[in-house]
Amino acid sequence: MTSALSRTPGQAAHRPKRSLGQNFLQDQGTAWKIADALEASSGHRVLEIGPGRGALTGRLLESGCDLYALEKDGVLAGKLKKHWPRLSVVVTDALRFNWTKLHGPWRIIGNLPYNVASPIIWDLAADVPHLERGIFMVQKEVAQRLAAAPGSRSYGALSVWVQSHAQVRGLFTVGPQVFHPRPKVDSAVICLTSLAPEERLHHSGPLRRLLPLCFQQRRKQLKTILRPLWGDHLDQWFQDQDLRPESRPEELSPRRFQLLANLLFPPHQDPENPSPATS
Ligand code: SAM
Repeated sequence: MTSALSRTPGQAAHRPKRSLGQNFLQDQGTAWKIADALEASSGHRVLEIGPGRGALTGRLLESGCDLYALEKDGVLAGKLKKHWPRLSVVVTDALRFNWTKLHGPWRIIGNLPYNVASPIIWDLAADVPHLERGIFMVQKEVAQRLAAAPGSRSYGALSVWVQSHAQVRGLFTVGPQVFHPRPKVDSAVICLTSLAPEERLHHSGPLRRLLPLCFQQRRKQLKTILRPLWGDHLDQWFQDQDLRPESRPEELSPRRFQLLANLLFPPHQDPENPSPATS
């Protein structure tokens, strides 16, 4: 059963733009379920990515939180501002947003455009260290990749990277019938929470270098992928980890990827994080 969304700001005379991944939520029950999953209330700072016609926005504002929004479509952003003067909308591309500007605790939410969901989550997971709660609707397969465990078919660079910075939990799936226009895929809602500082990856440069090396050739054995970098230190590391060099990348946990990355590309030699002596 779906319940039509009560009238939202952009509904009238706005043709959805496919280039911006505009599949708008039409069902109030689903919209409220997603917005409520953020557990926002008065005093929380909340950022909504891609508010569109405001399906989640009204419900979020009702919670009393301080709401900010990033919307690439200037026309829709204008309508939202007019309808909800309390809302701060920035017309910008979330792919270019500098997430490190978000100091202190934040909650972030978005029914993300399918085509840019992975890079947005990749960036914000690493660059927002105090993400109290992030609620994102993405294509179901992307949700599976984000939450995948080592050894599973969906496990890859995105899983290792995001799980090195945040805890990922799948919440529920959403069918195409609640959107206009209807997408060809199923969606799923996930929850991200920053890992505690002692568990979180701080110098991410080495991992950023290792992941493409490994997952562009995921069927190959690690000893083959890493042959150009091989040495006694790697022999020793595999022994210490009780791992076979014949293992494939998908068998390594995020923690092991981090250790291996730091061994191969020591953080003090990392151009992103030069040590004080070299900076
Ligand atoms: N939140 C609305 C809803 O649930 O109905 C809209 C969701 S729609 C799937 C995605 C929204 O993100 C659209 O409003 C679109 O204009 C916006 N958008 C697309 N690409 C964006 C980007 N790179 N940065 C910010 N917003 C973007």
